[in-house]
Amino acid sequence: MDIKVLPLPAEKMKDKIKDESQLGFGKLFTDRMLIVEWKAGSGWCDARIEPYGPFMLDPSCTVFHYAQEIFEGLKAYKWSDGRVALFRPEMNARRFNQSGDRICMPEIPEELFLDGINKLVALEQDWIPTADGTSLYIRPAMIAVEPVLGVHPSNHYYFFVILSPVGAYYAAGFNPINIMVEDHYVRAVPGGTGEAKTGGNYASSLKAGLEAKKKGYDQVLWLDGRERRYIEEVGAMNMFFAYGKHIVTAPLSGSILSGVTRDSVLKLAPTLGFTVEERPIDVNDLMADISAGKVTEAFGSGTAAVITPVGKLCYKDEVQQLTGGRVGEITQNLYDTLTGIQTGKLSDQFGWVKFVD
Ligand SMILES: *Cc1c(COP(=O)(O)O)cnc(C)c1O
Repeated sequence: MDIKVLPLPAEKMKDKIKDESQLGFGKLFTDRMLIVEWKAGSGWCDARIEPYGPFMLDPSCTVFHYAQEIFEGLKAYKWSDGRVALFRPEMNARRFNQSGDRICMPEIPEELFLDGINKLVALEQDWIPTADGTSLYIRPAMIAVEPVLGVHPSNHYYFFVILSPVGAYYAAGFNPINIMVEDHYVRAVPGGTGEAKTGGNYASSLKAGLEAKKKGYDQVLWLDGRERRYIEEVGAMNMFFAYGKHIVTAPLSGSILSGVTRDSVLKLAPTLGFTVEERPIDVNDLMADISAGKVTEAFGSGTAAVITPVGKLCYKDEVQQLTGGRVGEITQNLYDTLTGIQTGKLSDQFGWVKFVD
């Protein structure tokens, strides 16, 4: 499909970032965005890159009332030779359609998803920051825009992509965050939408997040929705626990997000001398193993959070501190290796990097 590039008037051009250490996450957006529409009867149409700006939408649109929305998150990196790299973008294209299928949204051809991102990022590449730990975060999303209050899949959608130059996801930067295991609220249940990257999952997580914050914790660690016993994941990260050189993570149960970073860690770790295992992790066993000194490190994985070390873990009234509040060796090793591949400092033996042209 032909993607039209509309003019960018001088008054719509924003100032570029001056101090890359002040970026934070997702607060600043580039000059342009991509939009492609889908209409029942005609399918995907009207693909265009236009100046970044607000949508004009009818208040009755399906997305505002029934949360028919999905999204993705990936990053672009500017290499020292000037090339622009994406990390495993085809995984995001595939997952986007899996999420869409769950909430009855039309499938977007992977080629259109990838071409659109490629073209938009190429146009906006001057926005990609280059300081350590920074990148251009790419946010594709789809919303239902049919103006009708009946509960049924919409007959009109916007697929859009916006770009945000970002630094570290957590205010603490690459430092341990503190996590509270949530034993009351649940994020997802078997048969629910936990495996889909859909906005509603996040809306339902906010209350637990706020309560954890009040108690001094950065994030909530979700347990399974049936027994509140097995580790699932954190807000926007899959979780890993190191038992010496053996790293374990929860299996893809259907109620957790199948992270691209999770998959990358599972493939990278064995090349670094670690063994990996996907198995159900009982929170009671986990706390006992930390207390007994068997669990040596914990970290989360996600595109936004990259590899994030965990310091404190709290479950009911028990608080355990891992690695004395420092960044563990395995966590550091995986962070360095993963970001090394993404930024071109280490060789990409898996063929994960795709260049923007
Ligand atoms: C996006 C997301 C992740 C991380 O997935 P990546 O593909 O590694 O970015 C983990 N959990 C949830 C709930 C997510 O939305």
